[in-house]
Amino acid sequence: MQFSDLGLSPEILAAVAAQGYTAPTPIQAQAIPVVLSGRDLMACAQTGTGKTAGFTLPILQRLSTGRRAGGPTRVRALILSPTRELAAQIEESVRSYGAGLPLKSMVIFGGVGMNPQVAALRRGVDILVATPGRLLDHAQQKTVDLSTVEILVLDEADRMLDMGFIHDIRRVLALLPKHRQNLLFSATFSDEIRALASGLLQDPDYVEV
Ligand code: AMP
Repeated sequence: MQFSDLGLSPEILAAVAAQGYTAPTPIQAQAIPVVLSGRDLMACAQTGTGKTAGFTLPILQRLSTGRRAGGPTRVRALILSPTRELAAQIEESVRSYGAGLPLKSMVIFGGVGMNPQVAALRRGVDILVATPGRLLDHAQQKTVDLSTVEILVLDEADRMLDMGFIHDIRRVLALLPKHRQNLLFSATFSDEIRALASGLLQDPDYVEV
């Protein structure tokens, strides 16, 4: 299996080559075609499997092909992560894979001032990576608009549930448009994750590594 077998565009293949990746990992080989197809996805994968590129690369491709030059920059992909460290790492990946694309990304998490985040949000962002609590703070203050989200990713969903974020997640979900693509990544497939998935995902594809 090669990256060029997965339906990725020349721009994204160039970004992959620039990273020095020679072949997709199993989660990438399975998840990338599903994400490109627009379907919902439930993926069981641990950290270290390459799952971040598994959702980031096809999201970049989907958003860059639909981007109107000069059009307004709106939050089109929202990636929720349990911790600041993971959120920052994901946004680093988005930034490096998307370096050649006309898409803006940013990360927001708690424990730092709101104001720089407010200023950056106001400048516009296509791909927003966030921890749930701080995202809700911005939503309450109306400094972020989630009504244009097309793709939602819950990364390390099992950790988010373990950390007690289920209510925050449900409050975020209520702010999103009904019609969207949902990607759920979890290292485990517990009853709690199953319950979250059944309420969130529509006719999903399942992948497991
Ligand atoms: P993740 O599981 O997303 O945290 O990724 C784990 C590590 O694997 C990261 O350091 C990536 O840069 C690296 N990685 C992701 N995809 C590939 C690939 N196809 N080939 C080699 N390394 C990769």
